[in-house]
Formats: sequence, C-alpha cells, structure tokens
Amino acid sequence: MARDVVIVTGGSRGIGAAVCRAAARDGYDVCLSFAENAAAADAVCADVAAAGGRATAVQGDVADPTFAARLFDACAERLGPVSALVNNAGITGGIGPFRATTVETMRRVLDVNLLGTMMCAQEAVRRWLANGTRGRIVNLSSIAATVGAPNEYVPYAATKAGVETFTVGLAKEVATAGIRVVAVAPGVIYTDIHAASGEPDRPARVVSRVPMARVGEPEEIAEAIVWLMSEKASSVTGTVLRVSGGV
Ligand code: NAP
Repeated sequence: MARDVVIVTGGSRGIGAAVCRAAARDGYDVCLSFAENAAAADAVCADVAAAGGRATAVQGDVADPTFAARLFDACAERLGPVSALVNNAGITGGIGPFRATTVETMRRVLDVNLLGTMMCAQEAVRRWLANGTRGRIVNLSSIAATVGAPNEYVPYAATKAGVETFTVGLAKEVATAGIRVVAVAPGVIYTDIHAASGEPDRPARVVSRVPMARVGEPEEIAEAIVWLMSEKASSVTGTVLRVSGGV
C-alpha cells in the first residue's frame, strides 16, 4: 500500500525534525523544508530512511510568496501526492520588550509565522479541493498566543494568535470537503529556538511557570501532531490542542 506523504516546514531541527521522525515511523514519506541548515536537513532525511520512509528536503523561505508552490511541486515530483501538511517553521524575532522591537522585526515575524503558514495552507487546500484529497493541516501555534509573552516576544505571540484564528476559520471553510485543519500549542520545549532568540537558557528560567515543573521535549509535541494527522483524530478539526505541561 502506498504510504501517505507529509510536508513538514522547518523539518530540519527541533519540533519539525521530531515530527518527521514520528511520521516516518507511522508510515509516512516525508518532504521537509529548511531555511539554511542543509546538513541538519540531510540528517533528518537519513533518519526517515532508517525508519523505512522516503525523504526529500527543499530549501527556501516560507515567507517567500513563490515558495509554497515550489515546495508542493518538488514534493509531488519526488514523492507523489501530498496528503498532510505541518506548518511548523517559525521564529520569535528575539527576546526583549515590545517598546524596543523594530518594525522590520515585527514584519519578519508576521511574514514567516502567519503569512508563511497561510500561503502553505492555501497551496495545500487548492490542490486538495481540486483533486478530492481528504488532507490534514496541523499549524504550530504556541501557548504565547494566550499568555501574550510580555517582555519576551509580544509580536510573536500575536502571530500565533493569528495562526489559531486562521486555523478555526479555514477548518470551517473546508470541513465538508473532508479536509481537517488543527493547531497545536506547545509550551516551553527544548530546541534551538531559544538560542536563536538570544537566550539559550530560557527554558531553565521559565520552567517555574509550568505546572508539571519540567520543560517539554520535541518528541512530545510530535506525538500529538501525528495523532492529529491520523484517522484516530478523524472528527477533530478547527481546534487548538495545548501540549504544554499544564500552562
Ligand atoms: P527551531 O528549533 O528554531 O527550528 C526552526 C526550524 O524552522 C528549522 O528547521 C529552520 O530551518 C526552519 N526555519 C526557520 N525560519 C524559516 C523560514 N523563514 N523558512 C523556512 N524554514 C524556516 O524551532 P522549534 O523550537 O522547533 O519551533 C518549531 C515551531 O514550534 C515554531 O513554529 C515555534 O514557534 C513553535 N513553538 C516552539 C516552542 C519551543 O519552546 N521550542 C514553543 C511553542 C511553539 P534551518 O534548520 O535551516 O534553520
């Protein structure tokens, strides 16, 4: 039987890489995108192959309006028709108070996190509506969407709130076509995003806010995502699943 094909944006590291590995284990072939780190993308492709899946990697910026079509075309050519999309690529824009955030940073965070998610989702639903695929989209939000991330990254939090509203609206729009759209809101997870934000040790600083009193692992987020993509979640759409240790 043909394996399902999933696209995971930002699949070269962190949560995205864990999603690629879990999806391969669960029977998917995987097309992952990355921004710059080709070696990391190759390593994830090797892990997918070791799990019995086919894998391919596509470099590009999800904020580039031409990227989504290129990503889906490359995936279809190399692996076949896509039936699931994980909109995972995301950036915080750096840690600091909102009053010090530049317009350039705000625009970049919006472009990558919100517009990038929308453009990839639009590419997916256009193709699925045209060919009758009962596809699944999982968008990465964050608990920041509801707690607001004051003094850390308020614009990032606002983009994730946008991702959640976008998830609800798109899910309702395509529900009768059998396409499901959901979001996952992770809490604090050990990945490189904290170093990229300017504070590698942020998880240790904020762990006291977590009722379970520990930082999450990328694999814990990945398990929620592969469940949401699976038939076991066949009636789940238009909702946000917090995977956050109780935050
Ligand atoms: P990460 O470790 O920083 O990895 C980011 C991934 O996205 C990498 O694969 C990177 O590619 C790719 N990427 C970055 N900018 C991109 C762009 N413009 N276009 C295409 N790909 C791009 O991040 P993470 O912590 O795993 O976070 C993944 C998602 O979970 C994000 O949406 C994030 O907001 C969300 N999240 C994370 C946490 C957390 O605590 N970690 C909590 C809540 C939500 P390269 O390898 O080439 O750089």
